[in-house]
Amino acid sequence: MNYRRLGRSGLQVSELSFGSWVTYGNQLDEGLARECMAAAHDAGVNFFDNAEVYAKGRSESIMGDALRKLGWRRSSYIVSTKFFWGLYDGPNEKNTLNRKYLMQAIDGSLARLGLDYVDIAFCHRPDPETPVEETVWAMHDMIAAGKVLYWGTSEWSAAEIAMACEMAERHHLHAPVTEQPQYNLFHRERVEREYARLYEDFGIGTTTWSPLASGLLSGKYRDGVPPDSRAAISGFEWLAERILEPTKLAKVQLLVPIAHDLGCTLAQMSIAWCLANPHVSTVITGASRPSQVVENMKAQDVVPKLTPEVMARIDAVVGS
Ligand code: NDP
Repeated sequence: MNYRRLGRSGLQVSELSFGSWVTYGNQLDEGLARECMAAAHDAGVNFFDNAEVYAKGRSESIMGDALRKLGWRRSSYIVSTKFFWGLYDGPNEKNTLNRKYLMQAIDGSLARLGLDYVDIAFCHRPDPETPVEETVWAMHDMIAAGKVLYWGTSEWSAAEIAMACEMAERHHLHAPVTEQPQYNLFHRERVEREYARLYEDFGIGTTTWSPLASGLLSGKYRDGVPPDSRAAISGFEWLAERILEPTKLAKVQLLVPIAHDLGCTLAQMSIAWCLANPHVSTVITGASRPSQVVENMKAQDVVPKLTPEVMARIDAVVGS
């Protein structure tokens, strides 16, 4: 496994990491989640991503139980969580990044994870109802209190991230070190264009999500919806609709022979393609079973095969 610096910070993250969205609590109980984490860890993964809102807090409890049983040295792994949507319905308990919510949310997450601190806390979405200054101060205070080591944003615009960085600089506060954006063959704009200046100007790293566009880029949906797949889970019909978009399915069909020529699976090629971007600090993978983890971790071996000619073939299918 290669490790990359998380932006300009000194934190070394494995270039492939493992997250718990959809899977923990919906598809994986603690035992299976632990098996997946162990498989990822065996491959060298040191970063495990989570969020308060995933399975309404259960995802954090499952990961916490698994970590306790796995018994790894706390200094050897990185855990993140994210805040915005909240777990309750009150005006200061959901869809906010105000100080009151954030300061309480971190304590709830630490209790569910059974940890003294999380390595990275993300502001899961921007909150136009709270001054950025208030959010930056609250994130700084979490770090000062020893509950969080680094903080980042997720799906903020480049302008919002720049504003947070400048605010932190002005007040000598801890600045965000990373953004967590979606990045895959079908979703490139933000990471490749909108954020272009943030990498140099503010040293922002990226922990990118959905490298397989929820499984679509494994090629498994070409003949319909497998019953044991994400698109078949009740309550995720909105996601199934995105996965089963005919134009995307047609492009997947054209990507399959490229992966075949490289001697790898389409999932491996799609993950390797994300890794080929030097502005990606880590690609957060997801899996509903250990065998997928094992397959996906081998994506690292495919990166050297992505020559300019192969990249041009891929661009010809998905557009650049
Ligand atoms: P992917 O796009 O890689 O989708 C993962 C899913 O695809 C798996 O759960 C599995 O679903 C299927 N899959 C994975 N590998 C294979 C394979 N080799 N062959 C066939 N199917 C496969 O990533 P996620 O969407 O899960 O995102 C990864 C992580 O990113 C999340 O866990 C979370 O930590 C983070 N994230 C962050 C967000 C944010 O807003 N900050 C938003 C979303 C995710 P199945 O078997 O059920 O079909």
